[in-house]
Amino acid sequence: MNDIKIPPIELKEVSTHTIVVNYNDYFDLNAGAVILNHFIIVIDTLFYPKQAEEFRKKLERNYKLPVRYLFITHYHADHLFGIASFKDVEIFGSNILIENMKKRKEGNWTKEAFDEWKKEEPELKNMIDEIEIIIPKRGFDDKYVITDDDSQVEFYHSGGHTGCSSYAYFPQEKVLFTGDELAVGFWPFISDPTGDPEKWIQTFEYILTLNIDAIVPGHGAVVGKEYLREELSFRTKLKNVVLNAIKEGKGPKEIEVPEFKYEPAEEWQIPRALEFLHNYYSKKNE
Ligand SMILES: [Zn+2]
Repeated sequence: MNDIKIPPIELKEVSTHTIVVNYNDYFDLNAGAVILNHFIIVIDTLFYPKQAEEFRKKLERNYKLPVRYLFITHYHADHLFGIASFKDVEIFGSNILIENMKKRKEGNWTKEAFDEWKKEEPELKNMIDEIEIIIPKRGFDDKYVITDDDSQVEFYHSGGHTGCSSYAYFPQEKVLFTGDELAVGFWPFISDPTGDPEKWIQTFEYILTLNIDAIVPGHGAVVGKEYLREELSFRTKLKNVVLNAIKEGKGPKEIEVPEFKYEPAEEWQIPRALEFLHNYYSKKNE
């Protein structure tokens, strides 16, 4: 079996000092970076250590600065399995991220699970063998700020897509990195058991009050605020149909989903999201 072909990493400028990199073959996955005067902050690692290593090398070579921080937006594998390539830098995220990663390391990210994965996708064997899960040492509750000269990058815990979800904001150039709080071009990824749809809506409302020119999502193209406004409007409609269904005693399978311009990446997404939302709002109304 041949190894999977991973396309080379291409650094793309979002603004003068912000970068996005993309792995199109995995649901249009993104990672990012902010280039400050004395160091670089990386945001998520892409999927595999090889990709993360190349991403880091290209950044450091291109900007002649060291990566000093790695911010992990949330605990999903596609955003952090490259973490081993950042062993020597300060890795951080929300405190809940640290808890979620510890739990995953004991439950899902075991040697047995990785062996199983290699059996299912033998072309990934070498990639999987390089994965090493490192638990971040620094966590924050609500907000964290990194300063370099007159610049600062702000990190906020939001907890929508997953309980640990956080985003990064670079006000100087009006760029925001959402992690999977936003996936552009896809029906939203709603069913993570730790996620919170109400916090998610509040996060969108708050982000819309910020001064922003570009939003770098966890998946998909870089967009402006207009996209987020439309997504928020869809989420609100979706919430209302779920609330109405609950009021009328209907189950999740009887809910008619409002129109959205994008399809789900996987078929299970919509039924699972409806079940999750129905359950969440039923409990909330008890
Ligand atoms: Zn995710």
